[in-house]
Amino acid sequence: MSRNVPFFNYQKFYTQNEAELMPLIQDVCRRGAFILQKDLQQFEENLAKYLGAKYVIGMANATDALHFLVRAAGIGAGDEVIFCSHTMVASPASIYFAGATPVPVECGADHLIDPTKIEAAITPRTNTIMPTQLNGRTANMEAIQEIADKYGLMILEDSAQALGSKFDGKCAGTFGKGMCISFYPAKTLGCFGDGGCLITNDDEIYETIMLLRDHGRNHDGEVVMWGLNSRLDNLQAAILDYKLKTYEQDIERRRDIARMYESRLGTVPGMTLPPGPDSDPRHFDIFQNYEIECDNRDGLRQHLRDNNIGTLVQWGGKAVHQFPKLKLNRSLPFTEKMFTRCIMLPMNTMLDDEDIHYVCDCVEQFYATGVKSRAA
Ligand SMILES: *Cc1c(COP(=O)(O)O)cnc(C)c1O
Repeated sequence: MSRNVPFFNYQKFYTQNEAELMPLIQDVCRRGAFILQKDLQQFEENLAKYLGAKYVIGMANATDALHFLVRAAGIGAGDEVIFCSHTMVASPASIYFAGATPVPVECGADHLIDPTKIEAAITPRTNTIMPTQLNGRTANMEAIQEIADKYGLMILEDSAQALGSKFDGKCAGTFGKGMCISFYPAKTLGCFGDGGCLITNDDEIYETIMLLRDHGRNHDGEVVMWGLNSRLDNLQAAILDYKLKTYEQDIERRRDIARMYESRLGTVPGMTLPPGPDSDPRHFDIFQNYEIECDNRDGLRQHLRDNNIGTLVQWGGKAVHQFPKLKLNRSLPFTEKMFTRCIMLPMNTMLDDEDIHYVCDCVEQFYATGVKSRAA
């Protein structure tokens, strides 16, 4: 039986929750409470409580949060920062705009920064490692911390995709000075537009970023430093506070979907699945994405499209160093090969079990009829 399984399904969440969302939106609008109001403060407090963190600062998006974090950490001209090329361009952009040099390295089999490739990229100018906690998984931070300690480097994580993800029981984002989280609609905690936040336990980082996000103005409206504007809209904060109440269930649902994919597709030849939710007790993954590798990726993608199933290849199909205009001038063969094979299957809380079985049926069907005969 044919179904329609879109990759994103924002309208379904809204429709399902409209009866509760509308009064909430009306309440904010009737109060005219749009900028830096109590809903934002409440959400910041609730999220801090949820994570056991000292400070949450709502911001316009995670790109700003990361960029401000890089600046607050004192990274600037002459510094080199090592990042994994399989990431959103926002990670190295935060380094670039601080005046420092982003240095890309390879990802590993789990698609996160490969700790064994970091040392070769270190120079006397390196001062930071920026792992991206990709797809809702946290990198092996023990291995990365060892390298950082050995060479006296800072760690700053791009944890935009990793709210609640853990390594050895420690949350993504807490290995460095602060974590940036994205509330972009496709993220595990998504709002109705752009949004993000910075989370930190560091008093100094907190003070600096509170000023940076609001034109350098302190509580009395006195401008005490150069700042910019990057505030999380109060209306978005009210919506996020509503979604936060079910966040834990949302993550459990994502992990259940990952278990279903694993049990149905784990033995399909030519296909490599991400590490399963129960495969390694050191990792607690939140499955922001379900990124697989497979033979004849483009053929599979077309087959799924023909069956009304949406998929996505991350970052438009290229690692950051593969965009020539950014002039990163590196060759990273493992990552480049991976980008000919990777694709993301539908992963969101609006999917029901039948949707997942339908996706798996279609994948199995494609490989059962022979990848070779379908190869373009
Ligand atoms: C989404 C994302 C960002 C940027 O988040 P925005 O809120 O859209 O600015 C940065 N890094 C990674 C890894 C992301 O997935």
